[in-house]
Amino acid sequence: MEKLSDRDKKHLWHPLTQHKIYPEMLAIARAQGALLYDEEGKEYVDGISSWYTCVYGHCNPYILEPVMQQMQRLDQVVFSGFTHEPAVRLSEELIKILPPNQQKMFFSDNGSTATEVGIKMALQYHFNKGQKRNVLLAFEEGFHGDTFGAMSVSGLSVYNGPFEDFFIEVERIPVPTAKNIDSILAQLTKRLKNNNLAGFIYEPLVQGAAAMKMHDAEGLEKILALLKSHGVLLVADEVMTGFGKTGKHFASEYLSTQPDIMCLSKALTAGLIPMGLTTCTEEVYMAFYSDEVAKGLFHGHTYTANPLACTAALAALELLQTEEIQKNIQNIIQWHTAFDNEIKSHPKVANTRQLGVIYALDLKVQMERYGNLRNRLFKHFMDKGVFLRPLGNTIYILAPYVTTKTQMDRIYDAIRLALELV
Ligand SMILES: *Cc1c(COP(=O)(O)O)cnc(C)c1O
Repeated sequence: MEKLSDRDKKHLWHPLTQHKIYPEMLAIARAQGALLYDEEGKEYVDGISSWYTCVYGHCNPYILEPVMQQMQRLDQVVFSGFTHEPAVRLSEELIKILPPNQQKMFFSDNGSTATEVGIKMALQYHFNKGQKRNVLLAFEEGFHGDTFGAMSVSGLSVYNGPFEDFFIEVERIPVPTAKNIDSILAQLTKRLKNNNLAGFIYEPLVQGAAAMKMHDAEGLEKILALLKSHGVLLVADEVMTGFGKTGKHFASEYLSTQPDIMCLSKALTAGLIPMGLTTCTEEVYMAFYSDEVAKGLFHGHTYTANPLACTAALAALELLQTEEIQKNIQNIIQWHTAFDNEIKSHPKVANTRQLGVIYALDLKVQMERYGNLRNRLFKHFMDKGVFLRPLGNTIYILAPYVTTKTQMDRIYDAIRLALELV
């Protein structure tokens, strides 16, 4: 039998891949807990939780069991005009841990659609109120997904060149630092005099795709408070940060100014089935609630609120709130802190950062995001049985909450060795 990785080449086109430069795909045969196994049986610690999704570990029976039962009861049904128990229960459970001002939830299929819906909510909110606000505000290096609206607000547009002429109107501000916050606030205050800003979309505290860049809550708080006082809707993109990664259920809990709209996906369904969710306040919802049909939010995806995805999300929510998972999160935070103390003054390390279970370090070497040196670094980790995906010169860890100390040590050892090799 021909290897999977060779059969793959015939018909498949992979995401974020220039196939001419990077033709080889590794075939993963199975996964369990924090481990991935390739078709040769070699195991890898999934150091990034398969893009921040499988935080409770792969193929976790606690998630699988209820989903297997649900799929024999109700697999899929239209969510327009119908409802079902998994969606209703999910809304009831999720509302208990969301910031208290979040009251309504709108389902979609993935992180990009969750932000797309958030953007549309913000724009139509003002439209419905007869206010001419058609510009969005976003952070310079934010990432919010790959559909058009999401791409437009994403500042990381290195690969968005062919589409830029078709983007919605977006203005950008840098992420806050102790140094620039006063000038950001001064500029925003001036900008708000002619207020056509509909909403501000932001990844609170950690910008994932920007290579786990972190900013402090204090500066963000000031920006949010200023914008909120001018009626600019706050759209928190917690697709990456949500569900425990920052050490709290949501990064927004580190802030006292709460978002009007929140976008969730990734760990929402524990990596089992894709789903997106956009939540909002009663106030936002009421701007759409009307005798006029056209004031409704006419957005809908075929698989909206798929019962299996909702069931996975419910089981994931339960797991998140168990003592065991919360303790695991605290353990990982401590291991990272100890590792950080050891390597932060290493001559090859430019700087390090950590929030919750998210840990990142920048190497003192210039590297292209997907360049040669970066690819060699990636290969080094895979050779050592560790799946890490360096972004340029940033190495980051976002391993599942169920990662054991031995498995985490394998990640740390591979990083230590990498520091000797670069
Ligand atoms: C991954 C991500 C998205 C996009 O989610 P997809 O499911 O990949 O479409 C949006 N926002 C943030 C912050 C993300 O990390």
